Amino acid sequence: MYVAELRCSICGKSYAPDQVQYTCPSCGEAGTLDVLYDVEALRRAVSREDIARSTDPTLWRYRPLLPLPADAAVPPLAVGGTPLYDAPRLAADLGLAQTWIKDDGRNPTGSLKDRASAVVVARAMAQGIKVVTTASTGNAAAALAGLSASVGLPAVIFVPASAPEAKIAQLLTYGAHVLLVRGNYDNAFELAVQAAERYGWYNRNTGMNPYTAEGKKTVAYEIAEQLGWQAPDAVVLSVGDGNIISGVHKGFSDLLALGWIDRMPRLIGVQADGSAACYQVWKRGQDPATMAPIESHTVADSIAADLPRDRVRAVRAVRETGGAFVSVPDEAILEGIPILARLSGVFAEPAAAATYAGARAALAEGSLKPEDRVVLLVTGNGLKDIKSAMRVAGNGYTVAPDIEEVERVRQVLGLPSFR
Ligand SMILES: *Cc1c(COP(=O)(O)O)cnc(C)c1O
Ligand SMILES: [Zn+2]
Repeated sequence: MYVAELRCSICGKSYAPDQVQYTCPSCGEAGTLDVLYDVEALRRAVSREDIARSTDPTLWRYRPLLPLPADAAVPPLAVGGTPLYDAPRLAADLGLAQTWIKDDGRNPTGSLKDRASAVVVARAMAQGIKVVTTASTGNAAAALAGLSASVGLPAVIFVPASAPEAKIAQLLTYGAHVLLVRGNYDNAFELAVQAAERYGWYNRNTGMNPYTAEGKKTVAYEIAEQLGWQAPDAVVLSVGDGNIISGVHKGFSDLLALGWIDRMPRLIGVQADGSAACYQVWKRGQDPATMAPIESHTVADSIAADLPRDRVRAVRAVRETGGAFVSVPDEAILEGIPILARLSGVFAEPAAAATYAGARAALAEGSLKPEDRVVLLVTGNGLKDIKSAMRVAGNGYTVAPDIEEVERVRQVLGLPSFR
């Protein structure tokens, strides 16, 4: 394993990997820790040609760049290796030179969160952990429940009772111990922290556990490798706690440090108007470490956060890459679901479809330019939240089993007949 140190994103203090488990003891919960590697040793040990030769299509093809002992077992579910689709009709619609969709809704439990849970569960197994826990708006919970089930590890999950039904169905079906919190995500987060502390369970909470971003960074590795070891001009992705954008930043930074890519993409973080804490702080040029909680409200449950847990690194990711935050209304988020689906064939849940409205907003504000080649990161599958999709999907036509009724519908729709 090439992990050299854990470094606080606020005070810069360095810790040995076994010295701290969660956030920086000096800075508290805002002081999320970067997992840093011995880049020189890595460069000597592995090349991008070695990676390209791997026959493993999952995120474990990047194993030397992951925080695991060489002989550690990994969960069997096939996480990562998701497709990057060139989407020319979407590019034309947006007015961009080129647009790709990275479809992470194709992961085993239907979201990018599987990348984080795969790495956390592998580390838990290596350390002989007996119980894992997490709070989540739904997807991180489903990911932990699924990955834990794949290796028989008990998982205790705290989710808001209001989470979309499909996500709760996943948790229950995977056999996790599910606590439905009468409260919001932030309440669930606090409960998971207290329970882990009180009972000695291993906590996967986003932004608290340093290793979730290490899993999520693999999506950046895949994008670069799928583009022939090049970065796109920009990556558009939605932001709640800010752990995905931090992970994507980390992934491209690793590749740049190794000399496997020669520049960074701009990261465009999309937030919902009703949950835009990072956007506000970035826009006002404030310090994210002193961010005050807001009262978040958005249809995109996966990006609802009163106080983004990985706020310091999320704002850093945008500032350091010359990117931007944009904020979009719920109606635009929902309208993006069928547009994205019809122009690319990819069905995204609201938080993931927010990248469409986000790309539009970024073009309008100038942080995306028409000549840019841009990846839209679809973080979660549309089947996760059918209720929201049905609000904008349109209607079918109810007919009797009678071909004359089909004929009436054909005429209404103006569908061609070739007879
Ligand atoms: C978790 C999640 C996000 C946001 O990730 P953060 O790390 O909370 O910023 C976006 N989209 C989907 C589908 C998610 O599950
Ligand atoms: Zn610190």
